[in-house]
Amino acid sequence: MSEQIYGIDLGTTNSCLSVLSGGQPRVLPIDGNGLVPSVVSLDGAELLVGRRAWNRAAAFPEQTIKSVKRLMGSNEKLRLGEKTYQPEDVSAMILGYLRDEAERLEGLKVRRVVITVPAYFSDAQRRATIEAGQKAGLTVERIINEPTAAALFYDQLRVSGQDSQDGEGRWKYALVYDLGGGTFDVSILRLSEIIEVLASTGDTHLGGDDFDARLTSRLLETIREGGGPDLSQYRPAVARLTAEAEKAKIILSQKGTVHIAEAHIPTPDGRPVTVETDISRGEFEEMTAYLLERTTDFVGKALDEAGIRASDIDRVLLVGGMTRMPAVGQRLNAIFGQAQRPVVDPDLSVVRGAAIQGAIITGENIEQILLDVTAHTLGLSALNARTGNLDCVPIIPRNTPIPAVRSRLFATTMENQKKVELKVYQGEAIDPDQNVLIGASFLELARAEAHCPIEVEYSYDLNGMVHMVAEQKGYSRRTEVRFDSRNPQGDDFQSLDFLDDDDNDDGLEPASPSRAGEGINFITRRARTLLEKISKEENQAVLASLLERYEQALANDSADLDDLEDELLSLMDEI
Ligand code: AMP
Repeated sequence: MSEQIYGIDLGTTNSCLSVLSGGQPRVLPIDGNGLVPSVVSLDGAELLVGRRAWNRAAAFPEQTIKSVKRLMGSNEKLRLGEKTYQPEDVSAMILGYLRDEAERLEGLKVRRVVITVPAYFSDAQRRATIEAGQKAGLTVERIINEPTAAALFYDQLRVSGQDSQDGEGRWKYALVYDLGGGTFDVSILRLSEIIEVLASTGDTHLGGDDFDARLTSRLLETIREGGGPDLSQYRPAVARLTAEAEKAKIILSQKGTVHIAEAHIPTPDGRPVTVETDISRGEFEEMTAYLLERTTDFVGKALDEAGIRASDIDRVLLVGGMTRMPAVGQRLNAIFGQAQRPVVDPDLSVVRGAAIQGAIITGENIEQILLDVTAHTLGLSALNARTGNLDCVPIIPRNTPIPAVRSRLFATTMENQKKVELKVYQGEAIDPDQNVLIGASFLELARAEAHCPIEVEYSYDLNGMVHMVAEQKGYSRRTEVRFDSRNPQGDDFQSLDFLDDDDNDDGLEPASPSRAGEGINFITRRARTLLEKISKEENQAVLASLLERYEQALANDSADLDDLEDELLSLMDEI
């Protein structure tokens, strides 16, 4: 049997590790219950990870790093003692700890892993996650979306008849509502023989930490109102109060009120203060209502995108520790009625799904098949000939099933243009500035007339990462770029920077989109010129017939236009 693949949920607040055993995903009891705080802390020369690091966080915030997931994919430098780290170095420490503990506790050999990420994670954030795995000495077999992983787990319960609420073992549409420590995701799935993700959306900066921050502000206010100092900018005090706020929030999931009494809150002048107050569940719900409102806006958006109504949803699956807050269930009940249901272990369903995905990869006998979708539109910035603006032209629209390969035709804007700039964006806005730039490169061109077609192809792989190929059609000039989290502009970043300073004389122009415009005319024009020039009769006949079919397809905008265009361009290349 091939080596097992472990599932890892690398969470903002907690991380965990699971493996399939006896056909069921089992969470390893690392740090007690398997929920390992995603915290690292330096104690003298010793690096602590997990529960022991978490225990030091409030007292030694300067030597502790929490919520590093929020920084993944960025260039932020994190200080720990004398050294600075990249976010993926810190994530690698957490991953390494999970591996070492699994080995220590149960003698397991953890090498191959599936790691989960929020569906809304960008290309750079996914790459940084893979890098973290590699730095920890792991082979990252697959990155999968958290809501999809949760759905895999719940679907296994459904298929195996363990979903007791479901008499017939059949439900068609499920909504996964995942509110964790730092991120929020919502996905809509259609379940039949396969699991199909119809829509996926969310916010990478919305989660339990925001609820804690709101309660922390309330405690800071209480100190000020009692005549104490304003500590909102004093990190040691904020860290202490945040830890208290989180505890209070969790108590409020069980009780109607919480009594907070904390002495020895540090202050800059060295005279510690005390905070004492009661907070009711009602008050807490009121002060955080706007956060829940944001999540339900996303729920509405996901339903719209999936093209279904709330009443079509058979089951709402709750994922993430924050869904234990009673107000979450109440809100969702108001929207979905009976579809809502309590969930046993909302924090562990993602990692269990990751273990199931790992077992699918190793070829274990698992019936489920998963069809995931892209969470963002991927487009190219291009000149709009009509308005003169740079627009983002979609190449892979959001919610396309993955893996996906899509291409689109663009064109140069001037004769003998030397280069074309290729900027890849993620997001739905037409204005590139409102989207996220995930990479840039350029294609060097052969001398050609203006409006020479450039085909740009994007591939979006199963890990949700992007690969671009651009080709000057008819001239076999190509460039291929895979994007790198630390160098989002691709390998040509330096030269691109330099070229940006140049004026247009050097022929650098944005590629302009022209599905039905000048680029197409150019193809037919070039084919006709070629027809006049070529000598071999058989070539002439083949080209003339293909050109005729192509022009007809163009006039009727018929479905085989793309295929004919490819055929025509390759034939011209051959001739
Ligand atoms: P996760 O990222 O899924 O591990 O979720 C962690 C978040 O859930 C943190 O913000 C926790 O404070 C929060 N959380 C855990 N348990 C509870 C609870 N019983 N009530 C409210 N929030 C909770």
